[in-house]
Amino acid sequence: MALALQTFSTVKDANAALKSAGTRYLGGGTLVLRAANEGDVSVSSLIRATEPSLSAITVSGSDVRIGASVTMAAIARHPDLAPLAHAARAVGGPAIRNMATVGGNLFAPAPYGDFTVALLALDATVSIDGGEMPIETFLAERESNHAIVTAVGFTLQVDGGFRFLKVSRVKPKGVSVLSIAAMLEQAPDGTVSSARIGLGCMADRPMRAKAAEKALLGRKLTSSGIAPALAAAGDGSAPITDPIASAWYRNEVLPVHLGRLLLA
Ligand SMILES: Cc1cc2nc3c(=O)[nH]c(=O)nc-3n(C[C@H](O)[C@H](O)[C@H](O)COP(=O)(O)OP(=O)(O)OC[C@H]3O[C@@H](n4cnc5c(N)ncnc54)[C@H](O)[C@@H]3O)c2cc1C
Repeated sequence: MALALQTFSTVKDANAALKSAGTRYLGGGTLVLRAANEGDVSVSSLIRATEPSLSAITVSGSDVRIGASVTMAAIARHPDLAPLAHAARAVGGPAIRNMATVGGNLFAPAPYGDFTVALLALDATVSIDGGEMPIETFLAERESNHAIVTAVGFTLQVDGGFRFLKVSRVKPKGVSVLSIAAMLEQAPDGTVSSARIGLGCMADRPMRAKAAEKALLGRKLTSSGIAPALAAAGDGSAPITDPIASAWYRNEVLPVHLGRLLLA
């Protein structure tokens, strides 16, 4: 079946066109076009918007705003986003990263969504239709979203606190067994004063490890200090089973890899 592609110069006009049945927004197309090529007939028309703000990266002090059409390759090479380069490079191989957008990654089902795991740990906000919402709210409701995501925003400290790890069987560009991102703050005595941990593949979409976050508070990042957090790492999760790994395996290895990330 032929696919129609409509291009609009503003998000407003593109959003209006998205209201028609059978239309879908086109980011980099790595998922939506693959699905069409594989026979998904639910989409008959693709919409794109070329408003410049969608492709802009703005860094003002520690405040970062990334337009939804920004690619993983652009993030990986941006000098002010160095702490995030590892997470951006975790998405596919070079050809995929040249097309894969931040906006599309927010909608990618597990085992994909590696960059979104990082955004979850960073407590990002997602901008849609002139408004803004916490990324957790967005992820919980993303199937009912029919408007264009325009940007994500978050605070990024240059001098650390953010950590990311992707575990895959095929190096360097295999699909995730799991991905983990953590944003940690430590008091002068080395104890953890604030923790946000994002997990990928431990549910159908990125989720927070809230029990582990809580168990880290007031603890030092030593083997004994993080032990309660590792014991609670999988609480509330429902890992996926796919050809890469079973849910059981993902549960088993999560504490091992979380431990490596926290002790790194
Ligand atoms: C070979 C291969 C390897 C991959 N490896 C990885 C990997 O290692 N890690 C990983 O995380 N992902 C991976 N992916 C999945 C995918 O490439 C990425 O998740 C990518 O970020 C999706 O973005 P996209 O712009 O290509 O999305 P698209 O395919 O353009 O869109 C995906 C969905 O999101 C919607 N959408 C896109 N942008 C917006 C927006 N701004 N507003 C509203 N809706 C929007 C689309 O309508 C569609 O429903 C891989 C894909 C392939 C084909």
